[in-house]
Amino acid sequence: TAAVELRDVAKEFPGGTRAVDGVSLSVEAGTVFGVVGHSGAGKSTLLRLVNGLEEPTSGSVLLDGQDISALGERRLRPLRREIGMIFQQFNLFRSRTVLGNVLYPLRLAGTDRAAARARAEETLEFVGLAGHGGRYPEQLSGGQRQRVGIARALATRPKVLLCDEATSALDPQTTGEVLALLGRVNRELGVTILLITHEMEVVRTLCDRVAVMEDGRVVESGEVYEVFARP
Ligand code: ADP
Ligand code: ADP
Repeated sequence: TAAVELRDVAKEFPGGTRAVDGVSLSVEAGTVFGVVGHSGAGKSTLLRLVNGLEEPTSGSVLLDGQDISALGERRLRPLRREIGMIFQQFNLFRSRTVLGNVLYPLRLAGTDRAAARARAEETLEFVGLAGHGGRYPEQLSGGQRQRVGIARALATRPKVLLCDEATSALDPQTTGEVLALLGRVNRELGVTILLITHEMEVVRTLCDRVAVMEDGRVVESGEVYEVFARP
């Protein structure tokens, strides 16, 4: 089954920009799917359509086989919890500790205090930040901050992780470390990953399949070695 599927999705913004223009793609459960393309190609809009922050102008977005645009807010909420997201600038709460950041989505989900605490600690251990829970984001390196971002995204045990240029703000060595961690998230936790990036290294080291976007359209897609072997 596809964890995420787009069927002929278009998104037109007021003023007429078609940021996404007839995209179909299918992300199989348990795989890592990369979307690449230049700035303005429509990658962020595509991710926002998958997490429900934007509604498609036409076409449908399916999570686990369910068309999210056909669901009301009440039925959409539990489905959204199946999705975690990480960002280029980490988007941590500066006024909360590392533990507080990871607890946040668990509180929103209504997890009781003791269970949330145990889950948050366990998730911090998975990302290599055991013992750092009491620190604040500004006391951490960029790589550590993104590990907190990953822990926060995984705290509710989503099936899908969306990554928006997750390593673009990091130096090459830290990028390698975060990519290795994302590889473990996929293999050890079985989390499906859909990422957007403009960095080829990310695609080469992490992705099973890739789609290349230009002007809102997918112009190439397939397994990574196929797509990049083409002349
Ligand atoms: P990418 O992530 O590949 O850089 P985006 O999805 O951010 O591409 O943008 C695709 C196109 O849609 C660009 O032309 C951008 O200016 C436009 N766009 C994105 N968001 C909006 C918006 N909220 N309103 C109007 N135009 C937008
Ligand atoms: P503070 O005032 O503690 O710095 P903010 O409310 O300004 O916290 O949020 C810090 C960052 O977290 C911002 O970049 C914001 O976009 C991001 N953010 C806010 N809510 C969420 C959320 N639910 N999930 C992910 N990021 C969020």
